[in-house]
Amino acid sequence: MERECLRANCLEPNHFRIHSFAQPAAPNSGIALPCSAQVLSCLTIMARVIAVTNQKGGVGKTTTAINLAASFAAAEVPTLLVDCDPQSNASSGVGFNKDPERLSTYHLLTGIAAPDDIVQPGPLDQLWVVPSSKNLIGANIELVSLEDREYCLREGLASVRNRFEFIVLDCPPALDLLTLNALVAADSVLIPMQAEYFALEGVSELLDTVERIRESFNPALGIEGVVLTMFDERTNLSQQVAANLREFFGDRLCSTTVPRNVRLAEAPSHGKPALIYDCRSRGAEAYIKLAKEIMDHTDPPPSPEQILAAASAAKDTTAHDSPAPDLYKPAETDAEA
Ligand code: ATP
Ligand code: MG
Repeated sequence: MERECLRANCLEPNHFRIHSFAQPAAPNSGIALPCSAQVLSCLTIMARVIAVTNQKGGVGKTTTAINLAASFAAAEVPTLLVDCDPQSNASSGVGFNKDPERLSTYHLLTGIAAPDDIVQPGPLDQLWVVPSSKNLIGANIELVSLEDREYCLREGLASVRNRFEFIVLDCPPALDLLTLNALVAADSVLIPMQAEYFALEGVSELLDTVERIRESFNPALGIEGVVLTMFDERTNLSQQVAANLREFFGDRLCSTTVPRNVRLAEAPSHGKPALIYDCRSRGAEAYIKLAKEIMDHTDPPPSPEQILAAASAAKDTTAHDSPAPDLYKPAETDAEA
């Protein structure tokens, strides 16, 4: 029944995306490879790394990370879920009991175990997990003295990146060194948000952080999207916040919203993603739809500056005298201040 249900709800299997483009093989060797062989010899399949992040607590990051990763996997897309939060909620939510002895994100960050040994099978055929543990709290302190402390996760994931099509990182509710590592390791950020007034202020701060990380560590980092969680479409406030976000983020505000759904809240206590716990629930269906929407993103994820520029341009074409949506202003640099 469970399997049948999963199949019925499943997405179409997706094709591997090719993230690094062909380089000329042995450019100075004088050996001319046939064009197709030359291209094939250099193609690598690299996971798209998505950090699910928002420094605000309790907005649905972990629920999103678990259920998005599970939805990719249910579509037969090889997916790795990495729990970057010492609270270990993503780990327990996919059936990993608290065990301080097991290999975890801590070992990935500190490089004291082989990544292949740290990656463990999850509750679906195509889902793998790097669980967290409490000693990840220590990593925040231990990494501080390292020279390349921001790149530890990126380096830890490098050797397993070609095994997966998606890597989903569940971040803690802080802009700390663990989140910084996740953002440096990621290609894009997915921002779960509740439709509340104060949430908009938090997003502005997060976009500022993304822009700074692009400048200093990871120029390719972009915005995968903003997803509204625990969404109640019947309230005016929800509609208003969604409209503000749409005006600013354009099509990077995910058209899928995740409703408040008791099955999503219950599933982690059974150690299962919602689509295994109750695949016909509205919550499971929303995350399957969200996974499909994200898989359909073909353009590179835009930077906050690009999003701001697009929002300003859209505003200009509709009302010449009104300013760009006031959601995010790039921080002034010291020189400008
Ligand atoms: P933290 O910042 O502490 O890491 P978080 O952002 O990861 O929190 P979650 O743990 O995913 O947030 O969710 C917070 C609480 O809300 C949890 O109890 C979760 O089960 C519940 N929850 C999340 N999304 C939904 C939803 N769509 N419907 C109902 N409950 C939800
Ligand atoms: Mg969480």
